[in-house]
Formats: sequence, structure tokens, C-alpha cells
Amino acid sequence: MPEELAGVPGAPGAVAGPVRHMTDAVNDLGPAEPPEDPEVELQAARDALTEVEMLLEKRSAEATNKDVAEILSAQAMMATDPALWDKIAAAVSGGLPATHAVTQAFESFKTLLEAAGGYMAERAADLDDIRTRVVASLVGSPMPGLPESSEPFILVAKDLAPADTSRLDPSMVLGLVTREGGPTSHTAIIARSLAIPAVVSCSGAAGISEGEPVVVDGDRGVVVRSPDPGLLEDVARRAEWMANALRSSTGPGRTSDGHAVGLLANVGGIKDAEVSAADSEGVGLFRTEFLFLDRAEEPSVDEQEQAYRAVFDAFGERKVVVRTLDAGADKPLRWLDLGEEMNPALGVRGVRTQRVRADVLERQLEAVQRAAKASETDVWVMAPMITTVGEAAEFVAMAHDQGLSRAGVMVEVPALAVCADDAAEVVDFFSIGTNDLSQYVTAADRTIGALSDLLDHWQPALVRLIRTITDAARSASIPASVCGESAGDPLFALVLAGLGITSLSMAPASLPLVRASLARHTIDDCRRLAELALTSDDHQLARSSVAEAAHLPIR
Ligand code: PEP
Ligand code: MG
Repeated sequence: MPEELAGVPGAPGAVAGPVRHMTDAVNDLGPAEPPEDPEVELQAARDALTEVEMLLEKRSAEATNKDVAEILSAQAMMATDPALWDKIAAAVSGGLPATHAVTQAFESFKTLLEAAGGYMAERAADLDDIRTRVVASLVGSPMPGLPESSEPFILVAKDLAPADTSRLDPSMVLGLVTREGGPTSHTAIIARSLAIPAVVSCSGAAGISEGEPVVVDGDRGVVVRSPDPGLLEDVARRAEWMANALRSSTGPGRTSDGHAVGLLANVGGIKDAEVSAADSEGVGLFRTEFLFLDRAEEPSVDEQEQAYRAVFDAFGERKVVVRTLDAGADKPLRWLDLGEEMNPALGVRGVRTQRVRADVLERQLEAVQRAAKASETDVWVMAPMITTVGEAAEFVAMAHDQGLSRAGVMVEVPALAVCADDAAEVVDFFSIGTNDLSQYVTAADRTIGALSDLLDHWQPALVRLIRTITDAARSASIPASVCGESAGDPLFALVLAGLGITSLSMAPASLPLVRASLARHTIDDCRRLAELALTSDDHQLARSSVAEAAHLPIR
């Protein structure tokens, strides 16, 4: 009898194969007794850190995937962080052997990152990875890592570290399952960019035996033990459909009867822009905060102008929607002193930082305007976390005053969605941020994997709220796009088109499948599917009834 182990969808697609578990980290650190010679102990710790740093740098240099290379190089820097070294040295001087000193120092750093929440908390897993490698080096054990196998396999791990994902060979690793980690973990991001089906946060996967055949269903977020022949056939059919769809997917977004739905990319800077320029109609979300993160001070207007210009130039005359600085919550900025907050996701974030430092937004708009003027690109600007119609009007006026003629807002706070009819009268466009809109409408922290059912974009409350926004946009004759992760779901994209969304912006890796899905349906089909989603009273039912009616082998 097939047995389903529940997890969370990490990357789309389904695949069958035998399981191989990752080599586990060393747990036995030895006795916590004072070392005979603290100097020798310190040198051992330094050698181990250097070994791990060099290994990570080497893997970064060898990585062919740019996301992986960047993550690895950032990890290599973490391994030699001077503050971390000071903690290790203090612990050894305090009487601990190197294995314990390293573990203690990394743990205290990890607590700091976790307390920061969001993006920083996700990086805490990186520290675990570096620590386990350093400890393995200290005790002379093999480094934890990928299993060797002569046949393709399904990899099961606690959570994959970037150093491991960099060495994933997609021809050998058929699917990925992690026991921990959420849909925004590295594993999920890398699995999506390598097009490997993945299920994350599947605690039951620990009980699967080595070599046991399973099915990984990344669409539904389940792992199936003892799959029956019917399921295996279904998996093969879905894999074939996906391969065909990807092969034939090119050009602008269109339904089968020619209704245009723009397909744009979400980018964070020039490297993403270079990757996505070939296969997208432009950029629907340029997350400018990456230029501002990890800095001691605000980048100058000149530096900003250059960074924006580089992205604009990669897209020529196409559209690029620049989102102004979205700092705060999971993206804290050192130089923008926002103070301590009990609930940063509900605090001074996004456009609200303007209440504290209005000058930062003014300089950013100036830099965008200068870069736009010097390029051919169709530049639009929008502000994140707009809550009231007044804020929307104020931002649009600021942008227009700067000479930026297309100014809109992200709709990601339910208050603005509810007043979308009034907001539509004062902006040039809407872009719906379903990641935040989901978290705020369901009151579920988007970084908590255990709440992923509430955060599911198929939740009827979210779908109905999107309809309120698209109805308002249609009445005011302004475009409404979606730039949250939901835009990259090939089934949900049909629902969004049916609701009247005019363009979809997503991670570049999601574009081909969304394009293929649109091309197989008329706009009337999409409207019918939207009606099904709107009238479902449960998120799983919404997804399954749309999947069935769409006649796509995607669940
Ligand atoms: C969103 O909230 O949906 C969005 C696109 O913005 P971010 O994920 O950067 O908050
Ligand atoms: Mg957002």
C-alpha cells in the first residue's frame, strides 16, 4: 500500500527513484576538558577554519550556477569572520577544547541571526553547515556531504547546505527531500533553478531506508513510499509532459487564443538580469534592496545610478519595474537605524522607512530617474508596503515630480487591497506582492515553514482579495500584475490570468512552464478556472479542482 509522507512543495515536478541519505555530521565532540596546550588547540581550530574556507572558495569558483557561487563565497567569508574567531579564541582560553569552542562560538552567532528573523534566520543554516565541516576537520572525520552512487537517486538530507547543492549533478540527483527547511530555503531555490523536483520540511523522510524506492511529488509536497504501478505511470507521464512543455516554450506570454499575459522576471541585480534577459519580456520586480544590504553606509546617488543603468541596459527597450528600497523586517539595514522592534514584519519596513528617513527615497528616485534618462528602457517605479490611498498618492506624486512618468504601488498590505478601487484612481499600475499579502491576510509569518498551509496562495481569502484588486484595476483601466512567488505556479498563473492579471513576474527558472501552461488554454478557460478557485472554500480543494479542470498533468 502506498504511504504518503507530508512535506511542503519545494520545486515542481514529480520523479521516482531509490533513496540515498546524506552523510551525517559528527555529533561526538569528545570530552569538554581543558586542553593541555591551548596554543596547539587554537592552531588546530585556525587550520580547520582555513581548510573549510578554502574548500568553500574552491567550490564557489567551480560552481556553474551563479546563485550557488555567490552563496558559497558568502559562506567562505563567514568561516573567517574575525568576530567569530574572537569568540573561538576566548572559549579556548576559557578552558574548552577546539571542537567545543568552535561549536559554542557558532551557536552564539546562530542565535544572533535567528533573533534577527527572516532572511538572516535563513542564513543560520549556513552557519550549521560551516560548523559541522570545521568539527569534522578537527576530529579527522570525512566531511558531511553527498553520497556516492553509481545510479541516479533521490537525495534525502536534513537540509542541504549550499556547499552540497553546488555539487549536485542533476543527471544523478533525480529529486530532493529535506527533513527541515522551508520553501524559501537554499535547497528549494537551487532545486527550482536546476529543475529538480523537491519536497522540503518532510520530517517523516528520516524513516525511509537506504535504497528504498519512493516518489517525490514536488507539486503536492509529498513523498510516497511503496508507490503502486498506477502512480509510477502517472509520474512518468507528468515528467514527459514537463520535458515537452519546456522544450517548446519560447516567446511572449499568450493564451492559446492570443490574449497577452506579460511574462517578466524578478531580479536582484545585474547578474540576475543577465540570466533572465534572454527569456523574458522585461523585469516585473527589480528588488533594489540587494544594493543596500550588507553595507556600512547608503550607496551614493552615482553608485545607485550605475547599478540601475546596468540592469536597464541588459533589457534594452523592454520594461523594467524598479521597486524602491524594501528594507526592514527580514531585510535589516545596518546604516538605516530603525531601532528594535517586537514585530518587525508589522513595523517600519518598506515605504514606511520614509517616515524616519525621507531623504533616502528621494535620492533613490533621483538615481532611478538619471539612469532611466540615460537609457532606452521603459522604466516604471513602484513602492513596497503601501497601506493607505494617501501613501499611494504621495509616492506617485514624488515619482512624477522626479520625471518618472509610470509610478505605481505594490499591493501587499490587505488594507490597500480592500481600498483598491480608490487606490486605482491615484496610481499608474498595481503589482500584487502575494508573498506578503498572504502573510498579512492570514496573519501567518511567511518565514515559518510549519504555517505553509495558511500561506498557500490557493487560500480562498487570497484569491478573493486578488479579485478585488483586479476588478478595481479594470474599472480604472490600469494594469495589474503579480510579482510574488505565486506568479511562478503554472496552474495558479491560469487563475491569475482569468482574474484579469495583465502580467506575471517570477524567478526566471519558472518562466518556461508558466508560458507553456498559458499557451494550452484560452482566456475563457482561464476565467472558468478562476471561478473554480474563487468558489472553493479550501486551498487544497481549489488547487485540485483547478488541476483537474485544466487537464494539465500538474497537481
Ligand atoms: C511579495 O511580497 O510578494 C514580494 C514580491 O516582495 P518580497 O517577497 O520581496 O517581500
Ligand atoms: Mg513584499
